[in-house]
Amino acid sequence: MNYVVSNFEKVKKIIGNNVNIIAVSKSFKYDHIKPLVEYGHRHFGENKVQEAQHKWFDIKNELIDLKLHMIGKLQSNKAKQAVDLFDYIHSVDSPKLAALLSKYELTLKKKRKYFIQINLGSEKQKSGILIDELENFFDHCIKVLNLEIIGLMAIPPNDGNEAKYFRILMNLNRSLGLQELSMGMSGDFKEAIKYNATFVRIGSAIFGKRI
Ligand SMILES: *Cc1c(COP(=O)(O)O)cnc(C)c1O
Repeated sequence: MNYVVSNFEKVKKIIGNNVNIIAVSKSFKYDHIKPLVEYGHRHFGENKVQEAQHKWFDIKNELIDLKLHMIGKLQSNKAKQAVDLFDYIHSVDSPKLAALLSKYELTLKKKRKYFIQINLGSEKQKSGILIDELENFFDHCIKVLNLEIIGLMAIPPNDGNEAKYFRILMNLNRSLGLQELSMGMSGDFKEAIKYNATFVRIGSAIFGKRI
């Protein structure tokens, strides 16, 4: 068995069938990813619009059930291309971006699914909505902008307290009545699923070390 597929199977055995695995293929060429697509996996994550477009455009036209997830910082000038290409966008992190996504859904006549990215540790270098601003932002997104917000997403501070952050995110998600929860990466997905993650974003544990 191809080693990417066997890595995927190992991860899948731990995670089970109730959590969606987003195989984060950023930085890898399609040749490296292809065995997993041929194996039948359908959720893939990328963090750059251009790279994703180049890599996936043709494949997505062939495989209509393939789902692409934008998990990286989304610049305003790439918002239109992102709405065109991605089925899910996990990095809705400002009112400005949310307004653009809403506008381009209308222009392109496409509806997408979104996660609001939360800046859990109020870290200056990380983007995301602050917890204090979440309720207003969420209301604005669903009532004014008509975006389908399905859950929250976060990359917790790397300070050994993942469980604490996952719990906070789980509770915020619940308080807004949201169904999906995007958290957990190669290093902490086991912890994330204890706190009801429904989408884990796993790169290196499946594809190996990124160059
Ligand atoms: C790269 C990335 C991942 C995957 O990271 P691994 O540690 O390789 O599993 C998950 N989420 C986001 C937002 C990323 O940028």
